[in-house]
Amino acid sequence: MRILYRILKMANDTIKCYLECCKSSHPKLPLPHNVPVIIGRTPELCITDKLCSRSQLELTSNCYKRYVLVKRLGANQSQINGIDIERNKSSRLEEGQDLHVVNGKYPHRVYFTGCQNDTKTEKAVVPKLPTKNTDLTKSDLSIKQPERKKIKVSENKPKVLNTKIKPQEKSSSKSVYAFDSPSPMSSRSEKKTESTKSAPAHKHWSQGLKSAMEDPELVVQEDEHIVVIKDKYPKAKYHWLILPKDSISSTKNLSTDNIELLKHILKVGHEIASEVTDQQPDVEFRFGYHAVASMSQMHMHVISQDFQSSSFKTKKHWNSFTTDYFVDAPDIINELETEGKVKDRRTMTSLLNQPLKCHRCKKPQKNIPTLKKHIESCQK
Ligand code: AMP
Repeated sequence: MRILYRILKMANDTIKCYLECCKSSHPKLPLPHNVPVIIGRTPELCITDKLCSRSQLELTSNCYKRYVLVKRLGANQSQINGIDIERNKSSRLEEGQDLHVVNGKYPHRVYFTGCQNDTKTEKAVVPKLPTKNTDLTKSDLSIKQPERKKIKVSENKPKVLNTKIKPQEKSSSKSVYAFDSPSPMSSRSEKKTESTKSAPAHKHWSQGLKSAMEDPELVVQEDEHIVVIKDKYPKAKYHWLILPKDSISSTKNLSTDNIELLKHILKVGHEIASEVTDQQPDVEFRFGYHAVASMSQMHMHVISQDFQSSSFKTKKHWNSFTTDYFVDAPDIINELETEGKVKDRRTMTSLLNQPLKCHRCKKPQKNIPTLKKHIESCQK
């Protein structure tokens, strides 16, 4: 057995696998044996098409069996020889077969070198591969694949993939959340907070989500209609925002034309949450909108109900997620379906000043530290 292993290992050391662009848009990409490599809308592949996810496909080569397992991670279709690849399932790609990265576009093939049956001899300059673990960082795009790694082939810097399932506690950032920063209901003195500092100089703080939708560190998923980002100042272990790609500044601008979009946003929210709850069934989520959002570009919150986060600091934070100020997404959809528009909830801002109470047992709480301590153990 050991001898067989050594023989296979020696073979693997010499056999190499590469991904080649059929249109020669970029240098060939090494696919080291048994190391998952994530490809998609990245400079390495010269793909800028927004329909292609940054993490569209995961490729894992088997050098001695001479095939590559392809797993589709992105929302849009990818094909092997014209056949759609099922999402999150491994499909086999053989030498000579066409791999279209997204929607029948960006054709690629794999080939192996270094043994008798070489399909190609090596000549192109191979982009420098990261050495062992230095460039491999844990990707947790999917909870089902805790071992997934991402290799950034052209750089030697580790690149952490955006997490969908990792608790989002931020260690260093100060809260710049709208309720402790400039907002329609904030006082003038509050306006000199981190939020103002964090916004690019030329942009108003309330436009921050529009930049966030383009920020690779925050975007976790997208399709042609929506973008999912990590909330930069999460108020719970799991907290994402889902935003439409079309410009819709807030829920009050919604019309019946947007009902399908809202249903899609909610569906994506459930899908993301289920990646957590499949593994941790006790984690509860809510999906909804603030009565008066302080950030522009409409967004639905997907937030776990533990509220364990250092960014959750104030009574306004708490009340915005635990009183009627937090409007469940189905209620917004229902309003559009029945009334044709979303209610004006501007008067609801008074809810933000309500006395603190536990969202589960409703017991009054003296202050934020006692509330935080209480909710850690409240089972109700
Ligand atoms: P609201 O507008 O009240 O529904 O909430 C805005 C949300 O956006 C809050 O949960 C903030 O923590 C979050 N947030 C604020 N600025 C950013 C940003 N630049 N990137 C991502 N999330 C942000």
